[in-house]
Parts: sequence; C-alpha cells; structure tokens
Amino acid sequence: MGVKDEKSLAGATPGVWNQTISAFLKDAMEYLMEQEDLFGNIVYTTKKGLSHRPKPAEQLALIKEPWVAAETLDDLYSMTKDCLKCPLGATRTHFVFGVGNPHADVMFIGEAPGFDEDMQGEPFVGRAGQLLNKILEAVHLRREDVYIANILKCRPPGNRDPLLSEMETCTPYLLKQIELIRPKIIIALGRIAAQALLHTNESLTELREKVYDFNGIKVLVTYHPAALLRNPGWKRPAWEDMKKFRKLYDQILESARAGGKSKPDETGPHLPDKHSMKS
Ligand code: SF4
Repeated sequence: MGVKDEKSLAGATPGVWNQTISAFLKDAMEYLMEQEDLFGNIVYTTKKGLSHRPKPAEQLALIKEPWVAAETLDDLYSMTKDCLKCPLGATRTHFVFGVGNPHADVMFIGEAPGFDEDMQGEPFVGRAGQLLNKILEAVHLRREDVYIANILKCRPPGNRDPLLSEMETCTPYLLKQIELIRPKIIIALGRIAAQALLHTNESLTELREKVYDFNGIKVLVTYHPAALLRNPGWKRPAWEDMKKFRKLYDQILESARAGGKSKPDETGPHLPDKHSMKS
C-alpha cells in the first residue's frame, strides 16, 4: 500500500478499510502460495546433490516386507492397500494407488491425493486432474496411455504439504510401481514430487528445464496443475516444458524403433507416427 493509497484511505469508512485489508491479505496469501510452489518451506534439511541419492533398487532391498516381491501392479495394490504405516492411513477415505497403462512409457507423478482423489480413490480427478487431461491431449496423449500416481497414497488432512516422514515412509511404494512399469520418461508434477523423487531440496525454478536420470529413466520437472490453476501466468512456461517432453519422447520412440526395441508386452501409448505440436 503506497503513500497515495494511505492518504486516500485517511477518511475511509470501516467497510472500505475492511475491503482494502481483505484485498491486501488475499494478494499476500497468493504471493506466499506462489513462493511455496516454487521454493517450498522445509522439506529436506540438508542440500543433497542429485548424484548422492540412493538407487531405488538399493532402497527397496533394505525393506523386508512381502510387497517388495510383487510381480504385478495388481499384486502390489493388494499387498499395500490397507497400509497404516504413517498417520495418514487412519484419516484417508481411499488409498489412492495410481491409474493408467501398466506398461506405460510415460509416468506422471504428483505429490498426494486431494479431496476429490481421496473421495474417488483415483489420482488427479479434480480440477487439477481435468487440467492434466488437457495437458496430455495437447501433447497427443490420452490419460489411459500414461500412468499417473503420487508420492503419497493417502491424503494429508486439509491438503497440507506432505511431511518428510510421510514421504520417506510412502515413497518406496512408488519406487516399486516405477520398477514394475519401467517407463521411459517420468514427469514430476510440482516441487514436492520432484524433490522427493530426485532426493534434493532444490527449488522448482532450479529443477525445471533439465533432464535427469533416474536409474536409466529420463525425468523432467514441471509445474503441478493445481499451481497452474492458482497462477495462470505459469501456463506458458509449463507448455514449454511439455513441448520439451514431447520432443524428448519422440526421440526415445524413434531410437527404440530404429533399434527394434520395445517392452515385450507393451500395449501403448497409441501415438500417430506424425503429429504437429501447437505452439
Ligand atoms: S500415506 Fe503411504 S505410508 Fe502413509 S498410510 Fe498411506 S500408503 Fe501408508
């Protein structure tokens, strides 16, 4: 609020003051949420280099539980759906395992179920999910072509950020899903998913526009669709991220075709040989 604004409010009625303060608080809250989307609060207390993260197989090897030996996603679901290893298990409506093609080349990973996802037991079904569907369409993919999951399988109360302890407890399930699906590319949606997956505390700004290696799988990082709903100004850079993804994916498909390599039981995605990208 500038000097001019203060002068103009000098003789304002309490109603005008209340409106002004409400508008100020709304702006401040939106600003803080934007900053949190990009930079977070405290997730990892020490800055770890990406190269120091433990390999997924090493993490899973330390876990002596039956689900680690699951050979299919269905088996993994059956073995984990009643999990109560962290307090979120007691407050969930549904365990939100994941959805999509079990042989997908592309996995989209968000942070945690929200209200709609908790009610329906499926990731990305609310407004953010509808936006994700549109993003998929824009790069010539269908929801059923890809696999969609979250770092956490249960909803944090009030949609708060996941706690580090919750992510550390739940992430091994996701690692096992990745091991079974064997995607070629993972898109981490938002800062929290990227930080948990890549084991870093770098900000979203630092993490975007790079390609990471996750045990032989390419990883790209972009905005969470919910953040795009809150801040439509980020849709343009998000679109740039998705164009980069599509280009990389086409290169991977092309080299797989040239080498005659594909997964033995692969059924999708179903892509046209040639397609144009909207700019
Ligand atoms: S969030 Fe993950 S670890 Fe916690 S209860 Fe749910 S499934 Fe288990």
